[in-house]
Amino acid sequence: MIKTERILHLKSCRGRKVRVVREHYLREKVPCYSSLCQADCVNDGKLLPGDLIHYVVPDVGVVVDYLEILELRELQGIVFTQTACQGVQHSKGRRQYNRLRNLLRDPRHDCVLFANEFQEYAYCPREKGESQEKWQTRCVYSAAVWYYNHLAGMMDVVMITEDQDAVAQYSCLNSGVYVISVQDYLQNFWQELQAAHELYSSISQTLQEKESVSTEKEFTEHLPAEVLEAGIKSGRYTQGTLNVNKYRSQNEASVRPEGFTNKSTDLSREVLVYGNKNRNRAVHGDTVVVELLPKSEWKGKVTALTEGQGEEKSGEDNDSKPMPTGRVVGILQRNWRDYVVTFPLRDGTQSQSRNSQRILAVPWDNRIPKIRISTQQAEALQDHRVVVRIDSWESTSLYPNGHSVRVLGRAGELETEIQTILIENSINVLPFSDAQLKEMPVNSPEKPWKVDPAQATERRDLRKSHLVFSIDPKGCEDVDDTLSVRSLAGGTLLELGVHIADVTHFVAKGSLTDLEARSRATTYYLADRRYDMLPAVLSSDLCSLLGGVDRYAMSVLWELDAQTLAVNKVWYGRTLIRSSYQLHYELAQALLNGEQAEVPELVRLGSEEKDAKLAELTQALERLTHVARHLRAHRDRGGALELEGVEVRAQLDKEKNITALVPRQPLEVHETVAECMIYANHWVARKIQEAFPHQALLRLHPPPRVEFFSQLVESANARGFTIDTSSNKALAESLDAAVDPQDPQVNRMLRMMATHAMSQALYFSTGALPQEMFYHYGLALDFYTHFTSPIRRYADIVVHRLLTAAIAMDKGSSSSEALDSNRELEEISHHINSRNRAAQRAQNLSVQLFQCLYFKDRDPQTDQCCVADALIYSIRDDGVLVFVAQYGVKGPVYMKNREGQVVAVGEDGSCEWQSGSVRRYSDHITTTSGCGTSTFRLFDHITVRISVQSSRCHADSLNLEVISNKPHRSAEPQQPQQHQGRSQLVQEVVRQAEEASQQAQEKAARRPKLSREEREFSQSKSPNLYLLLEEIRELALMDPRLTAQVCASTA
Ligand SMILES: [Zn+2]
Repeated sequence: MIKTERILHLKSCRGRKVRVVREHYLREKVPCYSSLCQADCVNDGKLLPGDLIHYVVPDVGVVVDYLEILELRELQGIVFTQTACQGVQHSKGRRQYNRLRNLLRDPRHDCVLFANEFQEYAYCPREKGESQEKWQTRCVYSAAVWYYNHLAGMMDVVMITEDQDAVAQYSCLNSGVYVISVQDYLQNFWQELQAAHELYSSISQTLQEKESVSTEKEFTEHLPAEVLEAGIKSGRYTQGTLNVNKYRSQNEASVRPEGFTNKSTDLSREVLVYGNKNRNRAVHGDTVVVELLPKSEWKGKVTALTEGQGEEKSGEDNDSKPMPTGRVVGILQRNWRDYVVTFPLRDGTQSQSRNSQRILAVPWDNRIPKIRISTQQAEALQDHRVVVRIDSWESTSLYPNGHSVRVLGRAGELETEIQTILIENSINVLPFSDAQLKEMPVNSPEKPWKVDPAQATERRDLRKSHLVFSIDPKGCEDVDDTLSVRSLAGGTLLELGVHIADVTHFVAKGSLTDLEARSRATTYYLADRRYDMLPAVLSSDLCSLLGGVDRYAMSVLWELDAQTLAVNKVWYGRTLIRSSYQLHYELAQALLNGEQAEVPELVRLGSEEKDAKLAELTQALERLTHVARHLRAHRDRGGALELEGVEVRAQLDKEKNITALVPRQPLEVHETVAECMIYANHWVARKIQEAFPHQALLRLHPPPRVEFFSQLVESANARGFTIDTSSNKALAESLDAAVDPQDPQVNRMLRMMATHAMSQALYFSTGALPQEMFYHYGLALDFYTHFTSPIRRYADIVVHRLLTAAIAMDKGSSSSEALDSNRELEEISHHINSRNRAAQRAQNLSVQLFQCLYFKDRDPQTDQCCVADALIYSIRDDGVLVFVAQYGVKGPVYMKNREGQVVAVGEDGSCEWQSGSVRRYSDHITTTSGCGTSTFRLFDHITVRISVQSSRCHADSLNLEVISNKPHRSAEPQQPQQHQGRSQLVQEVVRQAEEASQQAQEKAARRPKLSREEREFSQSKSPNLYLLLEEIRELALMDPRLTAQVCASTA
């Protein structure tokens, strides 16, 4: 080892230059991380493959400016030098540096770090008079040469640099290393990789035009980091995430401190940031620091309805009192992501400046400011949507500068709009890579998958002893969960079993599949498609607990007292099962109701055997229902809430056109299955938190903030009901009592409002919070987690691993896998929570997209589908918010329009616009015009006309206009399930059961069911709609914030 001195010239935060002398140790052995290595380097970690045609070593400038290109997963064999990494750290800061580090850590990216400055022969000290840039380039070149020699010329090495002098100087040295520019590199080696070329031209153009900025300040400078830190510590400044108001994005934004705290003080700590100047270049989502303005400058939020407004979750400070108002003084963390934009229309007003290529792109998300980009395609791409990234926002510029990344497609086309939704929610679902798929077990007709004999002896074999079955939505392919119930000890005991797909058997921790699943965190369900978390060979085949085949499972078995149903004993462990029946909900319910129903698995049996089997199955279902009712009653006593989510599904025809939107039928068997899953999740949560009190992944549901209930309480009051929000039990009971026998929609609406007021359920690590915060408010359980859906939720995979480790601990052996620490689990929780929110948003947006598609081609003036009944659920200054049950649509109805006209009601109830005035009261709003005064009250039914409001740059939205203050005539038959007699319901169930068995038979005939496309990409083109329904159900149950939902189905 050789010691030298290295002199660094650093700049302090205040711009002062500091000279630092560091001892610098050079070594002979520095790992090369190449699988071609012949020199016994200690290459632990990821390796560059040996079967590439070259390795590429980017210069500092390339890594600093073009990292995005190097981030493309297609690029292989990249060697990042220590010199380049340090260059990024110094010139681009932490954010870019972290991106580079993530890239290096992520095994899905084929790149490694070479510590060239510690390598005796690669290191070159800086020479006198040599500029920093020249020296760095020389270091990178020297590293490239070292690589070439170290691998004995077995691999070509290419260095890429934007320094033309370096290209000229080093190209003629005959060292074996090719030195070329980025553009040449891409053209020679990646000609087909369009994404890289687009990025290159967009970034290089942006760099060229960077110089021409004015010097006039538009904004005040941000304060230095240490000043911000001191200010936060002393309480002078507040730190939080900037949240721009969707409906008043120009002026209104707020900052609320983050975290788990749900104390009522939180709301009062919210700071309003009013206007663009005070926002001081902060973008929606950034972590900012604000300073309060003097009280005289405080403002209130606007409470009038605004264009496109659905509803907001807030304390409903209807009177808009002035609140703490502040200005942004610094930004701690930029949370910029990819944004979808539309280029402005060429009307001659844009960019009068010399450079006509600079335009202001309009983001799809109206909370994001316009972004200035340089492009030559502004004209050609007028009606397209384009992805852009923000690069910087100087204090001299009114708008942030950015560059385009890629073109999505024509606005308005389904694929473009779906891609837009994904990008806007940072959902990245590339097809699974070859390397990932290579990890997968094979199951083909030639090489069928078989139970491993070693596994068969290790696992508890339930194939003969237990009648196992699944109950899922029709057409479900990924069966996560199965059930069993049997009588023991001569009928004195009852054994309930929940058997869950053993995904962690197939997905090893840290494998590529595991990392991909982790980064997705969940399967994404959109209205017409889904993106799986796991490759299809697992999710719809080997992990899926299909009927009639042997499968590995993770089981929980409860031994219950047959009379009291008290738990005697619980057993957790790995099992081997074979599900006997793959039932769907409607069929199971029909069996329970004693209806004649065809069970596909029994079709071919003789009548005697069939009757016996049917009796056995029906008995199991009855026992299950009995147990579930008991469990539910027990939770109800503890205060569990029954919440209401709107579940409407869109029927699609083969071309994905919506033919109808229909509400969903509730069945008791849904509750039964859900209850068993809740029970399993609860007991697994108990088990793992007991075993790992400081590092188990659980799920909590914080109690809601009382302020959020004010609208619910007031609305219920208006109807003469009292809602008690003091506890979940009180809330549940008062909601149960708030029933208007004349109008079942009132109770439904109140439950929806309660749902909306709820906090969101969240994953967390047990080491991060005190135990009293573990409580799940909605389910009224002290411990809860997710265990039952490992095929579509990553949290369940983590929990399966924890349970395995806990079981191993019971047996006295330590688990083979290292457990995640509390900190790691907190990170995972945070990631999954954020991905779940993204999944929900994306799902909601896709539902809205299809709602708009449903109405888009209809003429609102003549088409009866566009006229519907609406229930008023909130009163605002200039209108009301309504809920259209038939379509699951919520939205504003204006009583006053922009021209100052108001809704005037004629004698027959019909409405028209006339000049006049509106007046708002707590539970009603009145309009006064030439026709006299009319009143719209909370919970009134009115008739609205639905039309589509098209938008060029944003998503289309639905427009609701009142056409009569009376209920819509055809409203009655649209709400069948409330009035419908039992016999009608049964008929409906039988009809669906028949349909289902027919479908199941058709399906059986179609095996093998995995198309090549599905196998490779695991991205089903055909919608799996029933699954979607199921997922939404669960979301509604677990994440009660979810309110309006529409699911699609091909009926
Ligand atoms: Zn080596």
